[in-house]
Amino acid sequence: MKYHFYNANILSEGKILHGDVVVEDEKIIYVGKDIAVKADREIDVKGNVLMAGFVNAHVHTPMTLLRGVADDMELYSWLYDNIFPAEQKLTPEDVYWGEMLGIAEQVRAGITAFDENYFHFDAIIDAVKKSGIRCRLGLPGNFNSKSAKEMNEFLDLYISKLDNKLIKPAIYAHSIYTLTEEELSILVDYSAKHKLPVCMHLAETLKEVGDCTVKNECTPPEYLEKLGFLDRPSTLYHCVHLDKDDIKILADYNANVVTCPSSNLKLGSGIAPIYSMKEHGLNICIGTDGTASNNSLDMFKEMFLVATLNKATLYDASIISANEVLDMATKNGALALGFEGCGDIIEGNYADLILIDLNKPHHQPLNNIISNLVYSAKSSDVYFTMVNGKILYEDGKFNIGEDIEKIYENCQKITKRIL
Ligand SMILES: [Zn+2]
Repeated sequence: MKYHFYNANILSEGKILHGDVVVEDEKIIYVGKDIAVKADREIDVKGNVLMAGFVNAHVHTPMTLLRGVADDMELYSWLYDNIFPAEQKLTPEDVYWGEMLGIAEQVRAGITAFDENYFHFDAIIDAVKKSGIRCRLGLPGNFNSKSAKEMNEFLDLYISKLDNKLIKPAIYAHSIYTLTEEELSILVDYSAKHKLPVCMHLAETLKEVGDCTVKNECTPPEYLEKLGFLDRPSTLYHCVHLDKDDIKILADYNANVVTCPSSNLKLGSGIAPIYSMKEHGLNICIGTDGTASNNSLDMFKEMFLVATLNKATLYDASIISANEVLDMATKNGALALGFEGCGDIIEGNYADLILIDLNKPHHQPLNNIISNLVYSAKSSDVYFTMVNGKILYEDGKFNIGEDIEKIYENCQKITKRIL
C-alpha cells in the first residue's frame, strides 16, 4: 500500500518544512518538496502538521480500568491500599479490554509506541498484536513467590511468545521497594545473559529515597550501581528525587530517564530535575504513567508540563525549549525503547506518523508551529494516526481490531464488578 501525503507542514529533524511525504508498505520512502507520484491513496494534509507519532515511554495501559478510583492521596496509600487490592481482582480478559481501551486512547492522542509495564502478559500480547501498535513489553514486574528457576522459565516462555516485530521485550523490575536484592540480582543476570535492557521505577518519592538510605546506606542510584543493574542498558521511570551525584551516576552509565510529570504532581511526589539531567547529557524521555495516577494518556499535557515545571522551580524561562521537549516525546523515547527507525519523519524510517489539525482558533494565527505543538495543541487535534504504515485512527474511526463501543461497554462492566 502506497500513501502520498501532500500539502503538509512536516516536522522533520527539528524543523518544519512544507511539502510531501510518501509511505510505501511500512516505511517512509520520501520526505521533501511537492512530488508527482502514483499512490493507492492521496491525502491532502491541507497545511496541517505531519509529524512522528509520540513515544509514551512509561505506562501501565490496562490501568484505564482504574481511572478515577483512587484520587487525592499519596503514592503509598494509593498503591498498597487501593490499586494493588483492585488489581488482584483483574482477570486476563479484564486486562485485555483495559489494554484495548488504553490503546484506543493512545492512538486517538497520537501515540504510536509505548513502554508497557503490567501483568497478565498473554492478554496484553493479544491486544497489542491485534491492534497493530508498537510496544516494548516489560517482564515480569514482580516475582509473586517464584523461585529463580521458575522465574527464568517464565521469562523464557514469554519472550518466546514475542514473535511479532512490533513488540520488543525488556526486563522490568517494578521498584527497589517491591523486590528483594536477590530477586533484583536474578533479573539483572537474566537480562545480561539474554542481552535485554532493564527498566524500573526509581526515586519516585522522598519516602523511597529515605527508606533506601536507611536500609541500604545508599541512595537508589547507588544501590542500582552496586547491584550491577546500571551495567545493563536501562530505562528509569520518574527519577524525581535525585541529587547531582545521583544524576552523575546515571549519566556515567548512559541510563535513559523517563519523566512523568502529571503522575508526580497528582500523587504529590515532586518535580523531576529535568534541567540538571539535561546538563548532564542524560537521554530524557516522557511518559504518561497509568491512568490511575494521571488520569489520561495524553503526551500534549505531559509536554506542556515538562516544558514549564523546571522554568518555575528555577525561575528561568530559558532553560528548556519547545524543540527539546518535542524530541523527548518522540525520538528520545524511540532511542530508549530500542525502536530504531522511529521517532522522526525521515526517509527510511518506519511510517509511525500523525496528522494534527491546525485549523482551530487555538492554533491561529500560524506564527510558530513548533511552539503551538508544545504550548497550545491538544490531543484532540490529532485526526490521523499511522503505525508501521497501517492507519489505526482516522477522523473518529478506530482500526485497532475491536469495535470502540464494545471496548467501552466491556470496560464499564469490568469496573462495576471489581470496585
Ligand atoms: Zn509507573
